[in-house]
Amino acid sequence: MMHLESYLSGAWRRGAGDGRVFVNPTTGEAIGQLDSTGLDLRAACDFARQAGAALRTMSFAERGASLGGVADALAGKRAEYLEIARINSGNTARDASIDVDGAIGTLKFYARLGKTLGNGYSLIEDGAVQLTKSDQFKARHLWTSRPGVAVCINAFNFPAWGLWEKFAVAFLSGVPVLAKPASATAWLAERMVRDVVAANVLSDGCLSLVCGSADGLLEAVDAFDGILFTGSSETGRMIRSHATVLATGPRVAIEADSVNVAVLGDGAKPGSETFNLLVREAVGALSVKAGQMCTNIRRFLIPAAANSAFIEALAAQIDRIVVGDPTLSEVSMGPLVNESQRTVARTGLAKLMQETKIVRGGDASGKLLGADAERGAFFAPTLLAAEKSDGLRAVHDVEVFGPVATVIPYEGFSQAVSLALKGAGSLVASIWCGDAQEAAKLAVALAPLHGRVLCVDSNVDENHSGHAIVMPQCVHGGPGRAGGGEELGAMRGLRFHMQRTALQGSPAMLEAVASQSAVAAL
Ligand code: NAP
Repeated sequence: MMHLESYLSGAWRRGAGDGRVFVNPTTGEAIGQLDSTGLDLRAACDFARQAGAALRTMSFAERGASLGGVADALAGKRAEYLEIARINSGNTARDASIDVDGAIGTLKFYARLGKTLGNGYSLIEDGAVQLTKSDQFKARHLWTSRPGVAVCINAFNFPAWGLWEKFAVAFLSGVPVLAKPASATAWLAERMVRDVVAANVLSDGCLSLVCGSADGLLEAVDAFDGILFTGSSETGRMIRSHATVLATGPRVAIEADSVNVAVLGDGAKPGSETFNLLVREAVGALSVKAGQMCTNIRRFLIPAAANSAFIEALAAQIDRIVVGDPTLSEVSMGPLVNESQRTVARTGLAKLMQETKIVRGGDASGKLLGADAERGAFFAPTLLAAEKSDGLRAVHDVEVFGPVATVIPYEGFSQAVSLALKGAGSLVASIWCGDAQEAAKLAVALAPLHGRVLCVDSNVDENHSGHAIVMPQCVHGGPGRAGGGEELGAMRGLRFHMQRTALQGSPAMLEAVASQSAVAAL
């Protein structure tokens, strides 16, 4: 059986044990194993920190060029990655593209940003302020790279994008990365890192990879490291409260789960443009990546007058989703990532079903094309309906990480807002509304509890990037239960990895520092 290896301290290494098995979720067959027993993660972190010194002597433009080299190395092997995503993640071609092309696109975006920043090594904010009566004493704010390693722990659903979006931002900031992919889908991450190492586009230590358990990883962190975690709130809480993390105080960013909401505007009539656009988006939420996207819509808030029509229209579209073997071109949705995720999804669904009725789907995997329901981790696209908007708890609280969503009726603006905010902090809200004033009012009301708000009207039409799709130009992360992290957002992502320092002195000194820096606002 295949054994994945870790790339630590400049060499590929295998753990001393057999470790965990990862599977093909379409057939249930074992693919390989991964293990990190006995690997020296403390030494690997030290090695990466030392590599940071060399990385910080590279200008932003040079770092950007290296990111471009990484993107090119990956683009050359794209077809192999799509195949791994199909075998190990149960991805359809569209699902795999979101992960793999999303990763390459994000690397290219940050490569271009590096080129734009030019030959500086640090960033300086524009505009000196005079601090005393003398015009010979002023201040500017300087951003420099933190001298640690970025420990990036990823969730199973984006083995490619999760790895490279974090890497791109950290590397451009001048900080080396030690990445830990989720065990269930680490194969793709391991293969990509192998190809990048073989392409020789990064100097040693800028990118390390640990495949297997994270045992000992948090114990190895230091004050100037950063931990960037994506996964469940439960693991996120454990990381925040870990004894070494509390004692040493690295920066911590948590991207956790959320119960994202889509709101159809109050006046929207069945069959109107925004109504139809939301139905179309909803079909994606119940099929793309089998619903395993942290940004996926989990709740639909629909004006009571349009509620039945919305459920009916969506149910008719759900009936057209073909579930089965993702190799087949007719199949629009593959399985969940493995049997244990299906068990967790079933437990969550049982909680939602106490407050809702099933419109489509439910516990059984339904009719499958080219696949065996006994062996694969299939889960039917499941639409739930709440009869009333009052007294719902689980619907606002439980994220079923699969193709499951609930329709909730509402009456009026205030109720729509109060129901939406019951998600207690989410990655994304979307507003489907033909009236710009109403959409603006909703957007501002929802913004404090959301990292991103997408508003779609007939001007935007189908030309939006999607509720669930994360764009590198925009911040990704959400407050409250979503973890409070903030990634990407062009320059904004660099904040996490850099230290802002108020620099006070003469204009000549400030100018000398500025001459080695790129002028930018973060
Ligand atoms: P998870 O079980 O929390 O695992 C996430 C990562 O944490 C994995 O790499 C896992 O490694 C690692 N981990 C587990 N225990 C750890 C420990 N004690 N110390 C350090 N790392 C540890 O989450 P998941 O099941 O992979 O992902 C699903 C969840 O992620 C969903 O709830 C989803 O909403 C959320 N998610 C959020 C985002 C976002 O951007 N906000 C994106 C994607 C997914 P092993 O796999 O080896 O156990």
